[in-house]
Parts: sequence; structure tokens; C-alpha cells
Amino acid sequence: MTIADIVARYKKSKDYNVYFQTGSDDHGEKIEKKALSLNTSPQELVDKNIKLFQKLWQKLGVEYDFFYRTSSASHKEKVQRIFQQLLEKGDIYRGKYQGNYCIICEDYVKEQNCPSCHSDTKILEESAYFLNVSKYQQQLLEHYKKNPDFLVPATTKKELFANFLGEKIQDLCITRSDITWGIPVPNEPKMIIYVWFEALLNYLNSEMGEKFFFTDFAKETKDEQTKEFSCVAIQNKNNEYLLVYNKKYGEWVFPGGKIEVNESPKEAAKREIFEETNLVVENLEKVGQGIFWNDTWKAHFYQTKSYSGEVLVKEKKTIGEIKFFTINEIQQLKVSGAVKYFFEKIHDCEIIHLIGKEITRFHALYWPIILFALNKRLPNKIIAHGWLLVKGEKMSKSKGNVVDPLELLEKYPPDLLRTYFIAKINFLQDGIFSEELLKEFYQDFFIHNLGNLCQRVGKMIELYNNNIIPAFAGTENIHLKKYYQNCLSTIENYQQKMNNYQLTSAFQEIEKLLNASNKLIQELEPWNLFKNKKTELLNSTLNYLTNGIKIIVFLLTPIAPESSQIVFEYLNLKYNDFNWVNIKDFKQIAGKKIKSLKGTLFPV
Ligand SMILES: [Zn+2]
Repeated sequence: MTIADIVARYKKSKDYNVYFQTGSDDHGEKIEKKALSLNTSPQELVDKNIKLFQKLWQKLGVEYDFFYRTSSASHKEKVQRIFQQLLEKGDIYRGKYQGNYCIICEDYVKEQNCPSCHSDTKILEESAYFLNVSKYQQQLLEHYKKNPDFLVPATTKKELFANFLGEKIQDLCITRSDITWGIPVPNEPKMIIYVWFEALLNYLNSEMGEKFFFTDFAKETKDEQTKEFSCVAIQNKNNEYLLVYNKKYGEWVFPGGKIEVNESPKEAAKREIFEETNLVVENLEKVGQGIFWNDTWKAHFYQTKSYSGEVLVKEKKTIGEIKFFTINEIQQLKVSGAVKYFFEKIHDCEIIHLIGKEITRFHALYWPIILFALNKRLPNKIIAHGWLLVKGEKMSKSKGNVVDPLELLEKYPPDLLRTYFIAKINFLQDGIFSEELLKEFYQDFFIHNLGNLCQRVGKMIELYNNNIIPAFAGTENIHLKKYYQNCLSTIENYQQKMNNYQLTSAFQEIEKLLNASNKLIQELEPWNLFKNKKTELLNSTLNYLTNGIKIIVFLLTPIAPESSQIVFEYLNLKYNDFNWVNIKDFKQIAGKKIKSLKGTLFPV
């Protein structure tokens, strides 16, 4: 979660519209059993647990946009609808399951002992529904071939291929008849849908998930004045889109038009749909937000700004035919204008899944296949992070070696945990965790490195220049030149690494600049410059060092927002005044008056 939060904060700093969703997978036999042993209901148990998690995320400064619960009524309804749809399509079929099941992992396994958690499995033999996974195996393999970085890190991908994707994949059993805590198969209340199958659908079933997986609304207008739309994409319950054959252009296009004077978007949508299909649509909702739907219809609006005039739908005479097409079919058609825009946007909007590596198979194998079956786009990337190892073992509830992060947060600042995870746990590999190492890291990084540098430079500005950040005096000095280049390359390298989700290496770039700053102080010895009245070089040095610190905390903000804020405040600067362009400007901060520090920046 902290990794996801760091990524989200970084993307926001780059002006992306970020939507950060997390949630809880509430169902499953493990929870049912646990609740029974505690003499409580599964719902009460998960409600209680989730409060603890939410409290933890809050304390860690994790700012997610949406928390999805798979025990919600709307999830149940949508899962059942998807189940029914895939059943009718033949991608779900009825058969018989015979084999082992691990309750801890909620996973069907081949072995008597679960290969993941080593606990005893139970034998299941029951009539069940299966997901026709093998049907899409080839398509999945092709997707991996075309997108080699779809799943990272490479080691995790290699494992997935070695253990599962290399051979013919078994169809996945997706129902259970010996549990009750879960979502029943439509019209078969005794059959419970497999927890993973429905939990994965959380990404799709949330309101924003629907937007991102169906289409893209990142460019939705906030401008109340923009009342014109170039098209209305109408989607039916089979996820097909309505296109009309426009004879005038010799192409298939979305039906479209614009909102007439005195017409609400909702009325416009109804009218457009009626004009194109002769169907009267009732209960349209949420039109004001750019999207509306009921069980049957969904309509997407696209703004005219860049496409006005391309799609003229009011000319009914020119329309030859009206038909629904699947996304795949539309991709085979010759399309332009708004339809093209629509599909470009589907691919444009970046969807990233951040998962623990133990659930890779569900996300990197079954989930894409479910999306293929539903005719949806895939996420751009699945990032599997490593485990926290305590005394060489994975930290997990079932092993009882969990370090309670809420307890840690009573003692240590959230930034320490956030930074530690990134710095010490090369986040795609397993990392070692202990409280001693955490304390050590606080001393090393926050006190001796970051805090010390800021205080030293601040103190010199206070003593030698009355708290005013001096201007660069244009001094030619080899050390300063080198340091300036160092600052610029740090900014570039950090972005390059963050863009590739190499968070640990990105953090190391910050550390390198910290070291370079300390080195610059050693090389130029500002106290001697002051003593020998080399004011120009002294001022230039202090200016550069302060700019270096500014860059360091700017880059550190997504990782350690509170600590960065402390430094910004000390220097009398505001994070929001900086961006990826002006952060390279060394003139901007000259003349600012920094605060006088009493005590230390970070508590010792
Ligand atoms: Zn297991």
C-alpha cells in the first residue's frame, strides 16, 4: 500500500489524473472458519479487520481514492451478472472437481501439502462450475509475447511461466458447495462463487473501474460551458458498442450530436439513443458526471473540442446501417474520428496493479483471461512486490511472526516506515525487517544524512548571510559545476526509475545527491571561504547546496511527505511552488529568508 501510495503521489506530481483504488477481499472459507471459531459472523469479523487496516493506511499517510468491499450488495449483483454472462457465452461450464484445496491460500492445489504455505490441504470432490481458461491460453501467451513487461519483475514472470504458463493450463474451478460465506451462483444459492474469481472483479466493478476498463474518462471536462459532444457511445449489456454506418463518410461511427439548447445531458442522451435506435431508455443516471447506465444501457460522451465536425449524426439520411459491435470487431473496422479516439483512449489510460507476489497467478493468469472472456482491455502492468522477511521467513499472519505495524507507528514516524520499505526492501525482492534495522535506518538516513545536511547548510546561511539564501554569483568552480550536473542528472535518473517503477533505485538517486552535497561541503569548506572573505564563492556554494536540498526534498516528497515538508518549511519554501521544470532553476530561491532552527529538524 505504501508503494502504491508513493507511485500515486509521484504520478500526481507529474500532473496525471490518478485514481488509486484498494479494498478488501471479504469472502472465503478461511474467514468463514475464523469467524466460527470466534463465535462471530464473517461479516462482523471482516468489518472489524478492515477498520484496523484502514486505520493503518491512514496512519501511514496512504491516500487512496476508493476502498472497495467485495461484500457490498452492488459487487454481489455485478458478479452474478458477469457469471451469468460468461455462462451463457460458454466460458463458464458445469463439471466436477476432484482434488486438493488449501484453505489458507484459498487455492486449488495438486499436492497434499500446499506448495505455498506448506499446510495440510483438504480433499474436495464436488459438482462445480469451471472457467474455460484453456480457451484463452494462446491469447494470453501472445499478450505476454507482445508485452514482455506486462508482469514484473522478470523473476516472478519466469516462475509463472515455469510453473503454469509453460504447459496446458487447467480450467479453473470457480464454485464451492461446502461453504456459505460468499456470493452464490445465480439461482443456485448452495453454490458459492470461488473467492478469487469474484475478488478479482473488484477492479472492474467499482465505479471508476468500470470507466477505466470500459473506456477512458480521464479527459472528462470539468468545464461547465462545454456542452457539446461529438458522439455518444452506446454500450449494451453484452459490452458491445453501437455504431452507425455513415454513408457520407463511408465509415462506421458512434451515433453522436450535441446537447441542444435547454437540454440536459440526460435528455440529450435519451434523444440520441432514441433517434438512432428507436428505443426509449428510462432510469438513466449520473449523466451529469459524463456517464450513465442502467442494467441495459450505458452511454459515453465525448467532447467536441478536438473532434468537432467529424461526426455528424443528425444527418439521418446518410446513415445506412446500425449495429452493435464488440471491441475486437470494432478494432477490425475502418474507423476514424471519435471511434478512433475512443480506442486510443482505452489504451492511453494506464492501469497498474500492485500486488504481493504470492497472488501473482491470480492476477497475471486468471485475471487477464477473465478480461479476455469479458472482451475488456487489460491492465498495462502488474507489479508483484516481494515479502518482508522476519528472521528469514515471510511475514504472514498464518506464521504468527507478524510485526504489528500499528504498534510500530506508535513509536516511529510514518515516514520512517514508508522510506524504510522503499530503501531497504528492493521492493521487487524480499527484504529483511527488524525493529533494530528500522532504528538504525532512522539514525542513518533521517538524522545523520538528511537532517544533518539541512542543519549544516542552514546554520551556515544563518551565520554567513543573515538567514538569506544567497544568489549564485556566477563563480567558475569545478566542484560547483560538477555538483550542478549532479543535481540535473539526479532529477532525470529519478524520474526514469520512477517511471519504470524502480522505486528503490529512485530512492538511491536521492541518497547519491545527499552524499554529493556532503562531499561538496568537504571540498569547498565554506567556513574557510568565510574566514578568507571569498564571498562570491561562498555565496555560490551556499546557493547550490540549498538548491541541492530543495531537489532532494522535492524528490523525497512522494516517499516521505511529512519529513520533506519539515525541510521545505525550514527553508521557507513551498512544495507546491515547484514542478519538474522549475526545480532545475537555481535562481528562484535566492533571497528567501530561512528560519532559525532551535534543536534538530528530526527528533533524535
Ligand atoms: Zn496454502
